[in-house]
Amino acid sequence: MTEGKPSPAGRQRPLPVFHCPYCGDEDLTPYEEGWRCGACLRAFSVRLIATGVQE
Ligand SMILES: [Zn+2]
Repeated sequence: MTEGKPSPAGRQRPLPVFHCPYCGDEDLTPYEEGWRCGACLRAFSVRLIATGVQE
């Protein structure tokens, strides 16, 4: 993790960095219900299976 990077004051929060689970590239673009990797051209979806809140 790199800290100390000045976040631009403004209108949008920085997006979390996602990595392609297949090749590790960060060139991901939204694709239908998930993401598409620009490096290996795989498309995949990210599914939330828990929120961390215990009942
Ligand atoms: Zn990839």
